[in-house]
Amino acid sequence: MSIVVVGSVALDSVETPFGKAENALGGSATYFSAAASYFSPVNIVAVVGDDFPQEDIEFLRERGVNMEGLEVIKGGKTFHWKGYYGYNLNEAQTLDTQLNVFETFNPQLPESYRNSDYLFLANIHPALQLSVLEQVESPKLIAVDSMNLWISETRNELLTVLGKVDIAMLNDGEARQLSGEANLIKAAKAVREMGPKVVIIKKGEHGVAMFGEDSYFVLPASPVEEVKDPTGAGDSFAGGFMGYIAKAGNLEDRTLRRAVVYGSTIASFCVEDFSLERYRTLTMEEIEARYETFKEFSAFA
Ligand code: AMP
Repeated sequence: MSIVVVGSVALDSVETPFGKAENALGGSATYFSAAASYFSPVNIVAVVGDDFPQEDIEFLRERGVNMEGLEVIKGGKTFHWKGYYGYNLNEAQTLDTQLNVFETFNPQLPESYRNSDYLFLANIHPALQLSVLEQVESPKLIAVDSMNLWISETRNELLTVLGKVDIAMLNDGEARQLSGEANLIKAAKAVREMGPKVVIIKKGEHGVAMFGEDSYFVLPASPVEEVKDPTGAGDSFAGGFMGYIAKAGNLEDRTLRRAVVYGSTIASFCVEDFSLERYRTLTMEEIEARYETFKEFSAFA
């Protein structure tokens, strides 16, 4: 069961109290794809310039990501994001965003992507999310992520997207900004009224909460001591979450709960190093072992 993802493929410059990375591989679709690839085939839709390193394309290809939908623009510059984190690693400060080739991107889904059952609209301009949404046939499950920039600058387009999806994933600040509600329970309810049946609110090192019609599931984050760079944690969560659902092939509540745990597990590995470095060595055995620890530290009788 394959997944289509549209989002950014980027070169990021990131600084945290624990080091920095310059022009390193990043982007919402990139983190998502790397994470989801542990569970399911992924088809990426994005654009880069010809400054984008071939070895980064190869890295994703080796992870089994289908790159047919990655357009490479001759003479174009890849999307660039520059961010900074202080000791509060839950809050990224954007220092610079250069959309570059995304400014004129008109996504065209390869024929082979169109009948995928799972669609993830990763963080990118909602107009691009909509364009991809219109090109897929009849996915079983559509999920969306966004960010403060699009909530404030392109609210109406984002509301149109939200009206067409099953699951919305937001961090706590975005959920408050979008809904105008300070209380996260009220915020989740307000976002559900915008369309999605399920709303997932990510709270960084404080874990995640999933709100459905009659269901509520909360999970703490994995107690990782070695956090170097939180960039990509949200997209990695989404990748693990969607990847597991695509593998399970059903939308039962039990599957969604397990998917939240797999998403949190993968995100906890992602933050252990800068950029996508941790994915270069991460194995399925490590993922399964950490998944098991969630059962132990969140169980009580
Ligand atoms: P997160 O999972 O929220 O930490 O996402 C981090 C990724 O989002 C980075 O690798 C950035 O390249 C990407 N990003 C940052 N700003 C934007 C934006 N405005 N549109 C699309 N992607 C972005």
